[in-house]
Amino acid sequence: MMLSEDVAFDMIRSSIILLLSEKPLHGYGIMKEVEDRIGKPVSPGVLYPFLKKLDKNRLVSSSKKPVGQKPKIVYELTAGGKELAARIYKRIASMVSLAIEPNLSVCVHCGCKIYEGGYRETISGREKIFCCVHCAQVYKDELASVKHARASKEEV
Ligand SMILES: [Zn+2]
Repeated sequence: MMLSEDVAFDMIRSSIILLLSEKPLHGYGIMKEVEDRIGKPVSPGVLYPFLKKLDKNRLVSSSKKPVGQKPKIVYELTAGGKELAARIYKRIASMVSLAIEPNLSVCVHCGCKIYEGGYRETISGREKIFCCVHCAQVYKDELASVKHARASKEEV
């Protein structure tokens, strides 16, 4: 589907779809939310033709609803639109992990990913990284008990 491919690579358009996946919005509401969240305004010249295109592709439905004093056209994702939103979420999630994961260290003891800081200690001449001091201590204790077990085996 050409449209979904276009959309997934476009930040403003992706944001519009994702906003609508949270709740139905009218045009002005979409413009305001997009600017609040990504700090980039979306012009009516981009928004309305895009909404029209989504409507034509049955990805949104529009209906007049009372908003405050006056009725306004409120846009809502259809089942197809929700599927598209799910695909955009997936794509963004994989892009984010692509950007973050290579820089992540993993705790030598518990295997959890270390997003910030961590604790480093040189053990047996090699620097190891842990998520916390506690993991480092448990790791050293385990290492010591393994060494101890080996040593007592050799004695026998
Ligand atoms: Zn750990």
